[in-house]
Amino acid sequence: MQTATQTTIRTITHWINGAPIEADQDSRIGKVTNPATGRVTSQVPLAPTSTVDQAVAAAATAFPAWRDTSLARRTQIIFAFRELLNARKGELAEIITAEHGKVLDDALGEVSRGQDVVEFACGIPTLLKGGFTENASTKVDVHSVRQPLGVAAIISPFNFPAMVPMWFFPVAIAAGNTVVLKPSEKDPTAAIWMAELWKEAGLPDGVFNVVHGDKEAVDALLDSPDVASVSFVGSTPIAQYVYERGTANGKRVQALGGAKNHMLVLPDADLDLAADAAVNAGYGAAGERCMAISAIVAVESIADELVAKIAERTRTLRIGDGTRGADMGPLVTAAHRDKVASYIDAGEQAGATLVLDGRQVDPDTDGEGFFLNPTLFDHVTADMSIYTDEIFGPVLSTVRVPSYDEGVALINSNPYGNGTAIFTNDGGAARRFENEIQVGMVGINVPIPVPMAYYSFGGWKNSLFGDTHAHGAEGVHFFTRGKVVTSRWLDPSHGGLNLGFPTNDA
Ligand code: NAD
Repeated sequence: MQTATQTTIRTITHWINGAPIEADQDSRIGKVTNPATGRVTSQVPLAPTSTVDQAVAAAATAFPAWRDTSLARRTQIIFAFRELLNARKGELAEIITAEHGKVLDDALGEVSRGQDVVEFACGIPTLLKGGFTENASTKVDVHSVRQPLGVAAIISPFNFPAMVPMWFFPVAIAAGNTVVLKPSEKDPTAAIWMAELWKEAGLPDGVFNVVHGDKEAVDALLDSPDVASVSFVGSTPIAQYVYERGTANGKRVQALGGAKNHMLVLPDADLDLAADAAVNAGYGAAGERCMAISAIVAVESIADELVAKIAERTRTLRIGDGTRGADMGPLVTAAHRDKVASYIDAGEQAGATLVLDGRQVDPDTDGEGFFLNPTLFDHVTADMSIYTDEIFGPVLSTVRVPSYDEGVALINSNPYGNGTAIFTNDGGAARRFENEIQVGMVGINVPIPVPMAYYSFGGWKNSLFGDTHAHGAEGVHFFTRGKVVTSRWLDPSHGGLNLGFPTNDA
């Protein structure tokens, strides 16, 4: 009989030209772990440049036929993918929980938000419609079209192994591009599962490819002359690097980076609702969300009461394996857990008040997972590393401010600008906040204001490099380029020589 520690270790494949592809002989190998048990479950090949080139070549070869496939047929395939995903989303959620660690409900929520973008992409015929002007000049017509770019590279982070790729590939594919996805090497199986689903939905081979890897694979994508666009999501230093290298190589690049999201709580807010929101948004997915709240900005007069309410609620959370009904799961790796714990050490040493210490943890799991309990700090100041750095773990820092103005000034001076929220019952204050705050996604009594698929997702400042956000109208714009056609059909009135610059006064 197999014991718990003798789990079979799978070998994950790449997916190129509609089929699983084994690792090259010269591939390096990474390990994939179940964060809730600490056990290695798979090994993942880390592609050398030659494997990336093979995937890009497959995508480039598939491009002309896919670009010329009718909109009706393309839409049918995307709709079929949507139906399969909807019917089997539980399988994908289980894969996410097993490799990322987030609890099953949360993993299902991730899949649903990705599915929203697939549904948005089903409307691509309307989204690609151009304009037409009859008789712009006498018997001269003008119309505009948007055409796909070619091979779209998508490089995604570990924290949303299904949703983040789905921010991009449904729109890219619907618009007629072909895709090479390089998912995070920490939780790569979701990408392969989605590739198999595309095949079942009838997508032609080569339109959607997956290569696993790390920096070497990313560099190969950034340098490949056959890659037209790069959509990257990850930490800020790497986003900036990807943006600079990709654009230097002439590619269209959107690179979404890290975050430090603030929640400003005004004295007139409903403090029970604000405390619920802080706990949900701070500790959901163990704080490993780019839209997680990590800094509570409390106006001094209500800070004691708010911190007490957050602490009271946090103490009720169950920590453990996400398949066993826990509220909060583990961190993704042991190294990441240790890094987050070192921030708790640093906050304590810097003199912040440690209200709840996450280093004391007794999780519900049958292994040695990478757990921390939720941590709550009070009296945090803007010079402490727990405030300045993106921790990406279940650590909430409370910064006290005298008034609304100082709260807004604090948020606006932060180098990140991904998401933020205000909690208040004062419509005028909320309206001012919406206008004055320098952040890309804003919640008013909503702690995680992730835009719906038909709007665009993206932050400001160091949270996004490039000028195009994900999905919605901006996503369609990113994956296409415009062409304007001026035409006339033979007519005697057009004869004669005239070397002047053409004007429309004819
Ligand atoms: P990461 O930057 O470590 O990795 C992201 C991707 O880059 C992965 O595919 C990884 O393999 C690749 N990569 C890693 N090192 C590289 C290197 N040196 N050169 C080139 N590529 C490299 O990020 P992560 O830890 O996987 O994800 C967490 C980060 O992602 C957080 O900073 C979080 O805020 C950010 N994030 C941002 C958003 C957003 O919308 N802005 C969304 C999700 C996650």
